[in-house]
Formats: sequence, structure tokens, C-alpha cells
Amino acid sequence: MLRIAVLALQGAYREHILALKREGIYGFELKLPHQLEEADGLIMPGGESTAIYRLMKKYGFEDQLGCFFKAGKPIWGTCAGMVLLADKDTGMGLGYMDITVKRNAYGRQIDSFEETIKTDLGGAKKEFRAIFIRAPKILRTGKNVQVLGSLNGEAVMAREVNVLACSFHPELGPDPGIHDYFIEMVKNNKGEN
Ligand code: GLN
Repeated sequence: MLRIAVLALQGAYREHILALKREGIYGFELKLPHQLEEADGLIMPGGESTAIYRLMKKYGFEDQLGCFFKAGKPIWGTCAGMVLLADKDTGMGLGYMDITVKRNAYGRQIDSFEETIKTDLGGAKKEFRAIFIRAPKILRTGKNVQVLGSLNGEAVMAREVNVLACSFHPELGPDPGIHDYFIEMVKNNKGEN
């Protein structure tokens, strides 16, 4: 059985678990580092990156996360989760993905918006209704980073090997497309396809 951990320190983790459940996939709340041993994939949710970062430090997540990443297990960061996966520019990035991001780059809470973005997931070009809440912008993508989604010509979703990131909140909308894409990454990694 596939098991996907959702980092449950702060933010929209319950919504991710529900979105996985709708796809028939078991997601569980990751509260302590050792629980990662039971996971085939990890989602780092949106929320407040400073709060998640501090709690990650407090509970000593870094070593276990580093092992998970180095083992090539799939990790997906949404919004604040993407800030944590990016390079060290914000002072909070784990550097698992060669991207530079700028926090809150679309404006304040009141500037949150929903927009149709273009995605390119495994050859099928599609549209996706994306919800942006005080979203970070991807300012730079490294040479091994594939852009999988864009809005007005700017990257809003990207992948580098087994690390996926998006600046919006797929778990808050009805379209399961991006959860399905990540579930496929986890299945392929586990050899279940
Ligand atoms: N602005 C938040 C941050 O940088 C991210 C917002 C979100 O995850 N919706 O932490």
C-alpha cells in the first residue's frame, strides 16, 4: 500500500490528506521525524513558511528529511512548502530544488486570486484552475529544473528529478490532476507501475 506523509506542523495539511483520500490514497499526518520511515512520498503543505520552518527546527526534522531526499523519494512542496524546498535565498530553503523564490511576491492576503494556468504534465498540455494565496514567485530555475506550469509566461510549477513544487494550492480546488501527477511519481519511485 502506498503511504504519503503530509508534514503536519502548520498550514493546509488536512486538505492535502483529504485530496489524497479522494484519489484512494492513504495520506497521514507527519508530526515527528521518525514517522518518515513509513512514507513512500512527502507533501510539504502551504501555510506560513516561517512557522513551519521554526517547528521543523524545533522537532529536529532536518536529518531525517535529508535522508528521505537523498534516497530519491518524491517530495512535493506547495506554496510555503515550495519556499522550504528552494535554495537558501529566503534563509529558510533546504536547497532540495535548484530554484530561487521570492515570498509573498503576488501581494498580500487581500491580493489572493484564482487563475487558469497552463500545465504540461507528462506530455498532456492542460489547463488547471489554480488558487494563489500570498504566493511565492519562482525567480530562477536551475538547468535541471523542468517548468511544468506557468502563468503569464512565468513558472508556477516545476520539477527537478523527484522534487515537485508549485506556488499555488491544488488541495483547495476540485481538480485532482496535480495530486494524481504526484501520486504517479510516488508509484513509479516505489516500482508500483
Ligand atoms: N506567504 C506564505 C509564506 O511565505 C506562503 C503562503 C501560502 O502558503 N499560502 O510563508
